[in-house]
Amino acid sequence: MQLRACLLLAAVFVTQLAAQRNYATAKVAAVESLSHNVKRVRLRMPRDYKFEAGQFALVRIPKSFVEAWNAKYKTSLREVARPYSFASSPKRLPLAEFIVQLASPPPKRDVPPGIASTYIHTELKPGDSLEVSDGIGSLAQTGAADTSRPIILVAGGTGVAPLAGLLDHWFRSKSHKKRKVFLFFGARQRRDLILDAQFRRWAAKHSNFSYIPALSDPAPEDQWTGPTGFINAVLDKHFAGTLDADVLIAGSPRMMQETVKVAEAKGIPKSQIRHDPIQVAP
Ligand SMILES: Cc1cc2nc3c(=O)[nH]c(=O)nc-3n(C[C@H](O)[C@H](O)[C@H](O)COP(=O)(O)OP(=O)(O)OC[C@H]3O[C@@H](n4cnc5c(N)ncnc54)[C@H](O)[C@@H]3O)c2cc1C
Repeated sequence: MQLRACLLLAAVFVTQLAAQRNYATAKVAAVESLSHNVKRVRLRMPRDYKFEAGQFALVRIPKSFVEAWNAKYKTSLREVARPYSFASSPKRLPLAEFIVQLASPPPKRDVPPGIASTYIHTELKPGDSLEVSDGIGSLAQTGAADTSRPIILVAGGTGVAPLAGLLDHWFRSKSHKKRKVFLFFGARQRRDLILDAQFRRWAAKHSNFSYIPALSDPAPEDQWTGPTGFINAVLDKHFAGTLDADVLIAGSPRMMQETVKVAEAKGIPKSQIRHDPIQVAP
């Protein structure tokens, strides 16, 4: 399946999902910048709200903002809901976190920026209400409880959000303590390595956890001495020969495709490779 078809399927999937979900009203507790184009939104969820580690939820954009957007950009959007991954453990409920990157217009295209991420970056403030669907997805599955296989997490950009949520959950619940856990995190420049300090702290504290950040296009001022290149290539180089592991991937469709290829070339069966929810071409 081609990338364009994957993206189209994903859009259809999200539209169908949006119509089927129940929504809860969360209160915004904080909005903070993690980088030049990424914000963390901390929400206070209703008492009875539940989700599972690694899931995502649909966030509904208020109608008044959609109407003003339509008038400004001459679009005809109706209900707007976008998936965002929980970047925190359900053990921290009623608090929950999302990490949202501002979707800028593609280069050289005279089109509007992304509506939902613009709303979150420019309008959302503490005290506001936000409609959030129930949790969706099952990224967290990492093999049978008795397996000792390593777990390899591979993230590109804000794809790191659900993996940060999973790690937060595993460390808080003391699960997978006997398994080696690796986080490969690919970003363009050092400023894009969001949560870097948090991952380094976890790596220092938990002897079974290794953090491998890599930059694809480091700036001279980054003074980067770590691995460079795309994260799939960094993963490939890190483990020589074949490998038996559970692999969880979150990032752009192309990054997921390339990482699945690397994992399969190392002999990891398809059943041990998860990426939620966009289907990667066989
Ligand atoms: C399961 C899942 C989990 C996700 N988790 C996260 C997460 O944790 N954090 C995160 O930041 N994102 C996440 N995303 C992505 C997120 O759901 C949104 O897709 C993203 O925020 C962009 O939404 P938007 O409404 O801002 O942009 P949209 O309005 O959907 O626009 C998308 C892009 O299209 C461009 N565009 C607008 N109009 C046109 C046009 N006419 N022609 C061409 N291009 C146009 C925009 O400039 C923008 O770059 C996730 C996606 C999935 C599927």
